[in-house]
Amino acid sequence: MRPSPPHAAPPRLLAWLIAATALAFATGCGPERVAFVGGEVLTMDGDDRVVTAFGVEGDRIAVVGSDADVRAWAERAGASEISLGGRTVLPGFVDAHGHFPGEGVYDFAVDLNAPPIGDVEKMEDLVERLRAKAAETAEGDWVVGFGFDDTLVDERRHPTRDDLDRVSTRHPVAVSHISGHLAVVNSMGLEQLGFDASTPDPEGGVIRRRAGSSEPDGVLEETAMENLTPKLWPGPTDILAMFRSAGERALSRGVTTAQSGLADPALLQALDWLSWLGLIPVRLVVWPDVQGGDAWVAGDFEPPDWDVHRMRVGAVKIVGDGSIQGYTGYLAQPYHVPPGDDPTYRGYPRYSREELIALVDRYHSAGLQLAIHGNGDAAIDDILDAVEAAQKKTPREDTRHIVIHAQMTREDQLERMRALGVVPSFFSLHTFYWGDRHRTIFMGPARAARMSPARSALDRGMPFTIHCDAPVVPMEPLRLVWAAVNRRTRSDFVIGADQRIPVMAALRAVTATAAWQHFEEADKGSIEAGKLADFVVLSDSPLGRPESIHEISVLETWLGGERVFVAGEAEAGG
Ligand SMILES: [Zn+2]
Repeated sequence: MRPSPPHAAPPRLLAWLIAATALAFATGCGPERVAFVGGEVLTMDGDDRVVTAFGVEGDRIAVVGSDADVRAWAERAGASEISLGGRTVLPGFVDAHGHFPGEGVYDFAVDLNAPPIGDVEKMEDLVERLRAKAAETAEGDWVVGFGFDDTLVDERRHPTRDDLDRVSTRHPVAVSHISGHLAVVNSMGLEQLGFDASTPDPEGGVIRRRAGSSEPDGVLEETAMENLTPKLWPGPTDILAMFRSAGERALSRGVTTAQSGLADPALLQALDWLSWLGLIPVRLVVWPDVQGGDAWVAGDFEPPDWDVHRMRVGAVKIVGDGSIQGYTGYLAQPYHVPPGDDPTYRGYPRYSREELIALVDRYHSAGLQLAIHGNGDAAIDDILDAVEAAQKKTPREDTRHIVIHAQMTREDQLERMRALGVVPSFFSLHTFYWGDRHRTIFMGPARAARMSPARSALDRGMPFTIHCDAPVVPMEPLRLVWAAVNRRTRSDFVIGADQRIPVMAALRAVTATAAWQHFEEADKGSIEAGKLADFVVLSDSPLGRPESIHEISVLETWLGGERVFVAGEAEAGG
């Protein structure tokens, strides 16, 4: 399936209407020049400068400095003044990796998260929530739930087709695992996917079977859920609402640039059109999947350029392995507590090493940036081998290839990353959400203590970013910063104290370095003259209370010089 050019010209009348609306909005929308004074402005510039004021002209920052400097500018420029009242201002958060508009899924699908995100604590809760949804869903339509975590329910297991048959035998039912790397379907769902006892496991995936039988038990791992994924998405009306609410939710958390990692050609096209039409209120960096990457390399896809600050196509995303809490992360040493009887179980890769080398070479040699998902250290070995081979064959400067999650990166692998110019992007919130279980179940204490090793990267002077991977966990950049700074688990255990990083370093990883990772450092990531006026006003300063940064709230979000979120006024964001 080939994507048609998503930037094809829309009907002229529509274009005129939009231009007219934009013009009316721009002219009716307050002063063009504004001085913001009397705050604590963490500029995140190269010197980590903290100032009290800055001025905005149109959609850009015009001046940064003391109140006196900025007031002098305001007088010359005829700018109005807004007092920050001592509040802290940061550059708008730049999402280093997420799955926009994934957080909008709960607008149409059932929320199966465990506390503190949701309220599913046992299998019966899951069945009940899905049953309620089935009761309001037309027979034959899919009933879908997201966010389930087998390690957080009393039963400590995935549901099976039998559990989901108790939800309904008249609807196909699907439950997506919190990691996004596994799903479970009921009997009707299996039938619609054409999976039965005679179906072999696909390459890079597993169709789990009933004990002592070849009959599927409903659990589908990795590539076995590929045909299911399109069925998890809603119809057109729900989709529109989902994009908008995901955008509003991002802005309410201070995110001014959201990230859509692993966009298939249909999503790529939808993002482009909806963003162009002004229906997505946040800036986007989109990473096409392999299918989109292939179209790009073949010249069948041109990234849109109607406004690269509203939506830009960045790296090609490749998935190297699965998730460690789903037992599909690919480790060099066995899992601490194996999932079955095999004590040597290490998970598995998505691609053989040779396949991955060929894949990486294809995009690297075409001059593209790569973002490769790698959680387990064996997967990361393969990824680094592939990048090294590609560099040897086609040397390139400043590629900024990214290892997404980089969760179990070893010290020797950080060295290789530094030498190859590879950027690790850590999913540091794992220390909070799954840290306790990484210690006791998946990794064991020693390996868990150095998961997401941000301090090791910082000490090497390497650029690194941190991310929420929303909707795997909610998009909360301040909770993410708190996690990287404190590494406290849900049971309040400090996991790997020597991998904690200072507040400024963590803030940099969600602003300046994240913008740099996306090749957008000229326009985003810091409050400096000439950059886009994307910034947030916070309820309190992260510098003064490192241990409770997660309790700080975003009061206002400004995007391109316009106030697009005010706490208490928005309906979205909940
Ligand atoms: Zn992801």
